[in-house]
Amino acid sequence: MLMKLHWFSRAEDRLDAWVTRQHQELVLDGKTAPVGPCPDDAFLESVARQSKQIALSDPRVDHAANCPVCMRRLLELRSQHQSRRRRLVFRAAVGCCLLIVAAFVVVSWRGANTPHPTDNMAAISETIDLSNAGTLRSLPSNSAQPSPLQSVLLPAALVRVTIILPRYSRLGQYTVAVTRDQTVNDQLAHDDANATGNGDREEVSVDLDLRKSKPGFYFLATTHEQDQASYYYPLQIK
Ligand SMILES: [Zn+2]
Repeated sequence: MLMKLHWFSRAEDRLDAWVTRQHQELVLDGKTAPVGPCPDDAFLESVARQSKQIALSDPRVDHAANCPVCMRRLLELRSQHQSRRRRLVFRAAVGCCLLIVAAFVVVSWRGANTPHPTDNMAAISETIDLSNAGTLRSLPSNSAQPSPLQSVLLPAALVRVTIILPRYSRLGQYTVAVTRDQTVNDQLAHDDANATGNGDREEVSVDLDLRKSKPGFYFLATTHEQDQASYYYPLQIK
């Protein structure tokens, strides 16, 4: 049914076009008698644009439809209007394509520059200077009073921490951990690394993943490989 209707309407369109063409030829050959004077160009332009402001009952429409001069001008204006519209459509299409390309470039550029969560490149570098820091030494047999200490501050992020060890620390491997209390049992993060440097200045660099840590007060524990006890430094995660 739809197919039939479609065919019917196309056949009707063809018939209309044929009748229009026949009529146009008659008009252009001067075989019709227009009534009244020729309307101005602005009016013909409105007709060519098929402006809704033009009423078909307007006598000027009837004149233009039967006047060879107006008809020629109308055909000219219509083809100008159509090519202008085609240019606009083409420009709009090109503009859309450019926008899509630009959006794609921006999205892929952002994608390439978004740091991967586990990418070490995203680690924040922090340096902790413990060269003059007091420590809380946890010894099982000793409940020593803590000495006044300065708190170390770290962000809740993936951090590459370089610790400048207290003077005269031993070289070798250290385990660095962030703990909730002064035991290494309850850790938020830890990493091992070898100390480098000399007696005046030794440092150890470790990667600590503190992204899941809640802001608050913790301890930074350092443990030398040959030492049973750990050194604890107050640490604040912001
Ligand atoms: Zn005319």
